[in-house]
Amino acid sequence: MIVEQIWTGNSYRNFNYLIACPESGDALAIDPLDFKKCLAVAKDRGWTITQILNTHEHGDHTGGNKRMVKATGAAVIAHENAASRIPGMSRGVGAGDVISVGVSVDLECLDTPGHTMSHICLLSKTDQPALFSGDTLFNAGAGNCHNGGHPNELYETFSKQLARLPDDTLIYPGHDYIANNLRFTLDREPDNGVAQQMLADYEDQDPDDALVTTLAQERQINTFFRLGSPSVIERLQVDFPEIGDNPDERTVFLKLRELRNRW
Ligand SMILES: [Zn+2]
Ligand SMILES: [Zn+2]
Repeated sequence: MIVEQIWTGNSYRNFNYLIACPESGDALAIDPLDFKKCLAVAKDRGWTITQILNTHEHGDHTGGNKRMVKATGAAVIAHENAASRIPGMSRGVGAGDVISVGVSVDLECLDTPGHTMSHICLLSKTDQPALFSGDTLFNAGAGNCHNGGHPNELYETFSKQLARLPDDTLIYPGHDYIANNLRFTLDREPDNGVAQQMLADYEDQDPDDALVTTLAQERQINTFFRLGSPSVIERLQVDFPEIGDNPDERTVFLKLRELRNRW
């Protein structure tokens, strides 16, 4: 499996992806908003884009579909419940479905509601797994729930699915938000030395050559995976004294998500 992370350079800071089969040269484009850049990279590598996967229905993820389909004839794949919101969808997928790319790449669909209620993350079936996490999980952060999502479901997705993936899983999110998210982590947990160091190292990173974190790193620097941290809980009590000394993880997650909305 070959992964190309494509920085769009737009104000929303989107990342698009191409996943290619090295044997056949077939490629899957994930959320190819910048269809021109995606097509240029595919051409340069000698790949043929045969499929598009939209992680979810928001325009900054689906906005390149039409012209990408026109240029390549690729099939559009998305969550089975997104058909009414994604024009031209040709395949609906749900939990456990597999998307094959060429002859050597298999990607498992995870049904990951929260940011929207029809959001798919892809997990590669490779020796070192890779997670294409759309707007569900960002480097050092979590998706918002303002446009069709629900924080409770986002918590369920984090705790029952994402947190259970292997430590060495590579994280490929839909946006480059790492610097701002690390600042939120440090606002919540000022003594987090790993986050301090990562912010110093990557605050001014070149998004064309962005850091790819592992889930093990996310567990250290992503507040939304650090729900039992005494320092997170202590700081949270300042804003929400009603949570007491031993809040459950769901409560901590929901309060963090609420704070992040107005931070
Ligand atoms: Zn979105
Ligand atoms: Zn987005």
